Amino acid sequence: MLAFHERLRERGLKSTGPRDDIARVFFELGRHISAEELYAEVRKVNPHVGYATIYRTLKLLKDCNLLFERHFEEGQARYEVAGEHHHDHFICENCGRIIEFESDEIERMQDSIASKLGVLLTHHKMELYGLCGECRAKKPSR
Ligand SMILES: [Zn+2]
Ligand SMILES: [Zn+2]
Repeated sequence: MLAFHERLRERGLKSTGPRDDIARVFFELGRHISAEELYAEVRKVNPHVGYATIYRTLKLLKDCNLLFERHFEEGQARYEVAGEHHHDHFICENCGRIIEFESDEIERMQDSIASKLGVLLTHHKMELYGLCGECRAKKPSR
């Protein structure tokens, strides 16, 4: 929240009640939340917040580099708190569960591919899709 208020000040914006409520709920929930899910959670705290304010605040958090916007294959955008350690994602095609992982080996291989290609990497997306352990146990055929 401190970082958020700082960025708002830098931009000459005031912190408003609804904006603060949305940001606080977002920072508390943290990971891979959709706008609809955030809306439902924020309404529990502040029933007067509208959907448009949710979108505007998500955009603002993104512009302030406090949020990552992810576009997994399921379609809707998901948001997570930025600034933590880099990680990649596994997405379960059955239940939608998102599992984060890190692999030094994959990161190193990407660097070596980049140097072979003579390119400079700015960022990457590594998304693995399949069945999570739980769904796999329910579908023993796979
Ligand atoms: Zn699953
Ligand atoms: Zn993540």
